[in-house]
Amino acid sequence: MSENQNNHFKVLIIGSGPAGFTAALYSARANLNPIIFEGSQPGGQLMITTDIENYPGFEHGISGPELMDIMRKQVQRFGAKTVFKTIGKIDFNKHPFEVFTDDGIKYTSDTVIIATGATAKLLGLKSESLFMGYGVSACATCDGFFFRNKKVIVVGGGDTAMEEANYLANLCSEVTIIHRREGFRASKIMLDRAKKNPKIKFMLDTVIDEVTGTENNGIKSVTGARLKNVKTGELTNFECDGIFIAIGHQPNTQIFKGILDMDEVGYLITEKSTTRTKIPGVFVCGDAQDSYYRQAVTAAGTGCMSAIDAERYLESIHN
Ligand code: FAD
Ligand code: NAP
Repeated sequence: MSENQNNHFKVLIIGSGPAGFTAALYSARANLNPIIFEGSQPGGQLMITTDIENYPGFEHGISGPELMDIMRKQVQRFGAKTVFKTIGKIDFNKHPFEVFTDDGIKYTSDTVIIATGATAKLLGLKSESLFMGYGVSACATCDGFFFRNKKVIVVGGGDTAMEEANYLANLCSEVTIIHRREGFRASKIMLDRAKKNPKIKFMLDTVIDEVTGTENNGIKSVTGARLKNVKTGELTNFECDGIFIAIGHQPNTQIFKGILDMDEVGYLITEKSTTRTKIPGVFVCGDAQDSYYRQAVTAAGTGCMSAIDAERYLESIHN
């Protein structure tokens, strides 16, 4: 067992997505006996999706929950301890660092790896969560391929929506951007690119009132959306095969506010080309520090980096 009686660890990992589990895999195999706190979404964002076809090593793809289950079992095989609790408070002024679960239990650790990820903002409709992974997606790079030559909607008026729409236009037969007002947050260059693309159409002052779809023998698929014009209140049915929600992401970094450096959105800032934060011994990996790539494989890659950074830090303080 890795834990001693004082709940002290060499490596404590917050978050159990691809970044956290990869950090755990490397540190467990380096004999550092890590503990992982899984938080409120054990397995991370991939738990809310169906097929993953762009994670290397799975020729025919794998479901998100299955992939995360394998990652958990893999780290447990090397002795990593996984705990289904959320971290509510940290104290990085002391060393060993102090970390508290939200039910008040204190753990101490020589290093902390933050892998708390990000949350894609969603509309909050029941029908949206019902069809998530079955036609509703929050990631065009991940799921666009499933909609080749099909008709899709992109919701949002920022750069992410424009970027997703342009990406999807290379794959899909038609892309309609649904935006709730006439003005855009997107930069002019991104907006102009979308406007110039003959496959992209715009519907403004419009919101999704309900996602529509079917369920046959447990197989769900999106058939369209009921749209609402916010100015007139008029409801119309729009037929499509996929709906991409592109209204932004929120990194799960609130507990580090005022303690670690972050950008205006809340993404944690690392030293160039490393996972080091401004506090020696505290590292960050995955979507919590990445507003740009946001992929499982990049999260796993930086998870590996954070474990190596932590291992080298431990060597430096013990020599
Ligand atoms: P996350 O997966 O976000 O995991 C964060 C972890 O931190 C969770 O376990 C959470 O419970 C935990 N946590 C947060 N706060 C705390 C706390 N205070 N205490 C303890 N734990 C905490 N990428 C692909 O490459 N391919 C795909 O096909 C793909 N499909 C996607 C489909 C959807 C619907 C979504 C939303 C994303 C998809 N992505 C895909 C993106 C991919 O899921 C993310 O890039 C990846 O999961 C990020 O990994 P992460 O480990 O950084 O964080
Ligand atoms: P964003 O700029 O905050 O835009 C979010 C968009 O979603 C806004 O148009 C907003 O509408 C809309 N929206 C939010 N909540 C909604 C809801 N509940 N229902 C309907 N619409 C909703 O977010 P982002 O596009 O993700 O961009 C975030 C940051 O990343 C920006 O700084 C952006 O420049 C940057 N980014 C850059 C690039 C690039 O340069 N290649 C690519 C992606 C992102 P309102 O406008 O009405 O609020």
